[in-house]
Amino acid sequence: MTRYAEFHRRSITDRDGFWREQAALIDWQRPFDQVCDYSHPPFARWFVGGQTNLCHNAVDRHLQDRAEQNALIFVSSETGEEEVYSFRELHAEVQRMAAVLQSLGVKQGDRVLVYMPMIPQAAFAMLACVRIGAIHSVVFGGFASVSLASRIDDAQPTVIVSADAGSRASKVVAYKPLLDEAIRLAEWKPAKVLLVDRRMAPMERVAGRDEDHAALRQQHIDAQVPCVWVDATHPSYTLYTSGTTGRPKGVQRDTGGYAVALAASMKHIFLGQPGETYFSTSDIGWVVGHSYIVYGPLIAGMATIMYEGLPIRPDAGIWWSLVEKYQVTAMFSAPTAVRVLKKQDPKYLHQYDLSSLRALFLAGEPLDETTAKWIADGLGRPVIDNYWQTETGWPILAIANGIEPLPSKFGSPGFAMYGYDIKLLDEHTGEELTGANQKGVVVIEGPLPPGCMQTVWRDDARFVKTYWHSVPGKMVYTTFDWGIRDEDGYYFILGRTDDVINVAGHRLGTREIEESISSHPNVAEVAVVGVADQLKGQVAMAFVVAKDASGLTDAAARMKLEGEIMKTVDEQLGGVARPSRVHFVGVLPKTRSGKLLRRAIQAVCEQRDPGDLTTIEDPSALQQIKDLVCA
Ligand code: ATP
Ligand code: MG
Repeated sequence: MTRYAEFHRRSITDRDGFWREQAALIDWQRPFDQVCDYSHPPFARWFVGGQTNLCHNAVDRHLQDRAEQNALIFVSSETGEEEVYSFRELHAEVQRMAAVLQSLGVKQGDRVLVYMPMIPQAAFAMLACVRIGAIHSVVFGGFASVSLASRIDDAQPTVIVSADAGSRASKVVAYKPLLDEAIRLAEWKPAKVLLVDRRMAPMERVAGRDEDHAALRQQHIDAQVPCVWVDATHPSYTLYTSGTTGRPKGVQRDTGGYAVALAASMKHIFLGQPGETYFSTSDIGWVVGHSYIVYGPLIAGMATIMYEGLPIRPDAGIWWSLVEKYQVTAMFSAPTAVRVLKKQDPKYLHQYDLSSLRALFLAGEPLDETTAKWIADGLGRPVIDNYWQTETGWPILAIANGIEPLPSKFGSPGFAMYGYDIKLLDEHTGEELTGANQKGVVVIEGPLPPGCMQTVWRDDARFVKTYWHSVPGKMVYTTFDWGIRDEDGYYFILGRTDDVINVAGHRLGTREIEESISSHPNVAEVAVVGVADQLKGQVAMAFVVAKDASGLTDAAARMKLEGEIMKTVDEQLGGVARPSRVHFVGVLPKTRSGKLLRRAIQAVCEQRDPGDLTTIEDPSALQQIKDLVCA
């Protein structure tokens, strides 16, 4: 047994002993009486009786040893701003923000909705909330009024923190009019709106409701707001899933379990050392932003970079210039971002000194081998895939290099992480598949480990109904993803359970077909969906973004490439998997977090209503597909 396998085994067989040890990675105001209360499955309560505070663990406890070290580094390639906050300065700013929120009536247990661009005040607001026991609900700044309104109604915030504007590709995106419209649409009305004025867009203020952040901050410049010690089980925040498969689910997270899980993951998985710098390119609107821009690195005593801007502006070297400048030791990004870089000149990967960088972690969607190799070779640094969900808050599958450095396998996010009792279930019989290389639904036997969702916000019934089912003697949580485990214990995620298509009785994962298509040298991105077919039940249809589309202006050239792609699939997977058509598009429909909206593509191909599209990035991408398939 490898050292890691033993570590994992113990986390399951001696669950309480294992997590009791991990719990020592954070500060407790009051020690817990019980490690895990699982008397009401599937609801798990971690570190019962303990009291702690997330903000204390992320900020205050570092003041003793590293008050003058960097804590938050803000870089905007949109506005040219660059600000560095030490732990001492961060502590002061968070207290000011906490005092401002209190002055607006925020109390323990109240919700505060944060609708912000990637600016430091967003992180101050999150930390200030948990400091005073308020529950934050960050809504991605790219969402417009309708999505925002539904989240306002769900979270019912006392206060909304927002700003005049963000910026994307040098275009100012005004937030305030969207917010005003969302509040108008929502049934719930916040008492106050706190506005950060970046002086990027004019703002109309609603008298009696809208407050100016800078003015209030000045009033509370010397504020000292102690941390409110809350129960380990006190909710720290709510956050919505990406909405890839339907209506987003409001994930509710606790405090103590989350702090312990993040502290442990920084040590065991992300190789985070105090005093070093972490750079996650995500957005605070997503779970990666919560766990690995704000809380994880700070809990570990690291500086964290908050970056506003695109990966390719002013040029595709911008991220790597930050790695050099701030001596970044660990980086976290998503395959979708790497695919954006892949369309650029690879020379940008070699312009900066990346010797400080130990690894690049990628998560969020399947990492195809071509993309993984391109970035790993280009950077000359290990690229580590990891698989998890908004629901879990930290990796389910990864390589725990902090316990034992084990090699990655292309296409695999790695092993079951400690604390996760993962099983693969046969989709028909529901029986556990124990052999190697058998394909099943990835499930987690309850209880979920610390850090995972407590419930769906205000909807325990939806939590149970959506995720859990009973198998004799226990309850299992389903991830809605397919996977296999090889003889060495590496898992491979084969796609979502609803992304399987059935061609003339053959069940095929769209992911496998996409992987095959993306091995063609002129394919930058691809989406495969199953489309109803009278003869075969379903057929695969592919939508491809070509790397070089300049030669695809005439039908003959498109047919030639289509033929080549079909041949690639024929050779690699066989004729059954060959897509019935390969369409070329300029851009694929994705969620705001960069996930392929296959269900929407499929609906459009079958001339059905595409359903909830509130999280779509670019509606014209779907229109383009509609035009193609209906032509
Ligand atoms: P919704 O649940 O609302 O449909 P979503 O599942 O896309 O949206 P997230 O929690 O952001 O919301 O994404 C988690 C999902 O992303 C996983 O269940 C999995 O399908 C996919 N995923 C994440 N990381 C990886 C990875 N490393 N490899 C393959 N798939 C991944
Ligand atoms: Mg999901």
